[in-house]
Amino acid sequence: MELIMLGTGHAGVTESYNTCFLLHENNQYFLTDTGGGNGILRQLKRAGVSPRDIHDVFITHRHTDHLLGVLWLVRMTRGSLLRIYAHDEVIHILSKMIVMLYPDTGMENIELIAVQDGETRSVIGHDIMFFDIHSHKAKQFGYKMEIGGGQTLTCLGDEPYSPLCYPYVHGSTWLMHEAFCLEAESGKYNPHRIAHSTVKDACENAAMLEVEHLILYHMEEKTGADRKRLYTEEGRQYCSCPLFVPDDMERLKL
Ligand SMILES: [Zn+2]
Repeated sequence: MELIMLGTGHAGVTESYNTCFLLHENNQYFLTDTGGGNGILRQLKRAGVSPRDIHDVFITHRHTDHLLGVLWLVRMTRGSLLRIYAHDEVIHILSKMIVMLYPDTGMENIELIAVQDGETRSVIGHDIMFFDIHSHKAKQFGYKMEIGGGQTLTCLGDEPYSPLCYPYVHGSTWLMHEAFCLEAESGKYNPHRIAHSTVKDACENAAMLEVEHLILYHMEEKTGADRKRLYTEEGRQYCSCPLFVPDDMERLKL
């Protein structure tokens, strides 16, 4: 399986795109989150993926930097099947928005699928279990996916790990964990005040949870071209597993 990071930024980025990514295998694509708008079309174009090639999308929560890009997918995939998975609140919002914004097109090709905490589905041929990450801001789900060969990929959405998620996260082959900024810059960004982590926090969690690989996302962009190096240097002090700090459009073989 291949991971394509379409976006790696937090909500307010302007040079990069908001966090969203594709899992790709055998010309099948599973999209997690969609970023804040029309930029999803540019990122897909840069990846060489047509919106019509995507039939499965998961939205973690209702914040605009994760949700609004899906309206552009709906617009660009008329006549092509689009299954959108999310918890009940997001599905409710989407069902209203799609009908109100696209009154003439109907929803024949859109399948809105409300998933429950702990529910397992099959997406692009792989079992995926959705779970509540226990956000204090807006209800949010992540997931654990079986990616073949006994490997697992766990996505924690855009908030810090909660101990309530231990059974889903412990021992994951790949963990995707947000990291808003360096610990060294936490005085500047105050990530904990807005329910986000530093690189140090994410790496300490990865070590404690005995994951085999850690991927960071939902990051600030002001460190620019130095971000990968600076985050890797800080992270290495707190966990020994391989650490990936992707830039937008970077691909990773899982
Ligand atoms: Zn976010």
